[in-house]
Amino acid sequence: MTRQEHIDRLLQEYARRRAADERDREERIEKTRAEHPEIAAILDESRDLLSESARRLAERPGGGRELAALVRTRSAELTGRLKAAVAAAGLPADILSLRPKCPLCKDLGYAEDTFPRRFCSCFETELARAMSDESASEQSFATFRLDVFPDEPAREGGVSQRRMAEGVRQYLSDWAEKFPDNQRPNVTLIGKSGLGKTFFLNCVAERLRERGVPVVQMTAFRMLEAMRRRHMGSFESRDAFDEMLEAPALILDDLGSEPMLNNITIEYLFTLLNERMAAGRHTLVATNLSMAELQQHYNERIASRLLDRQRGAVILLEGADLRTL
Ligand SMILES: [Zn+2]
Repeated sequence: MTRQEHIDRLLQEYARRRAADERDREERIEKTRAEHPEIAAILDESRDLLSESARRLAERPGGGRELAALVRTRSAELTGRLKAAVAAAGLPADILSLRPKCPLCKDLGYAEDTFPRRFCSCFETELARAMSDESASEQSFATFRLDVFPDEPAREGGVSQRRMAEGVRQYLSDWAEKFPDNQRPNVTLIGKSGLGKTFFLNCVAERLRERGVPVVQMTAFRMLEAMRRRHMGSFESRDAFDEMLEAPALILDDLGSEPMLNNITIEYLFTLLNERMAAGRHTLVATNLSMAELQQHYNERIASRLLDRQRGAVILLEGADLRTL
């Protein structure tokens, strides 16, 4: 895909995201209106103010400035009353507002008031990710170069990072060859960033695809997007979350970097890992979080699945030795 094609695809994704944000806001407004008549009354006044001023402007096109000042004063007053009513009802202050994932661009992907259009930093980040995901397919065990790993001990007195990488390469390339008849269907790669975790995942994905295995590979960031869409009520009969549940091989990068969304991140991640294990499907995960941090960040049930050494290999890319116990 060209850069422009990536941009177009991502803009569509943002448009869907924004539409979902708006539906979510509409639902909250409806619910609040139904449960709090005093708030509904203020919202009605606000709506009437707008339609009334539009009507008066149509009647007296010359009186625009005067009318605008009047509308501003009245609408500031209504906003104040609305805030007070929301607080009095014990509701969150943003109950009637859009809740975008990115507060900067409100999920549009670009700054609204710039010309030429300037993309938001969140958009640039996702674009770079999408483009590097694509170039990732050039990484494979066949072109694997051990000399990119420094030949120095990862820790004083320990083995060199290169030897460690060699061990991981050996384990993962065997794993990819044996798939799906692996003694341990799951692999969790743990280590700080910069140790080659993404590279290893790409090598496995490449080999599996070569062998004709359908692979779903994504960052945790995208994973959460799929979960969020499912949670909001997806309209497709089979959505991205179903694909993640059903893929014979699921490869998740950067787990722990995704936002923690109430009622979504923990719940859906547990469902995903648990159902995949129950169905005997293979899952590869890379994370910057240590074992202890995984337990704190998620919970015991999720951590125990990620760190289950009966059915999974836990590979530590940090520390003196490489353990695939
Ligand atoms: Zn943004």
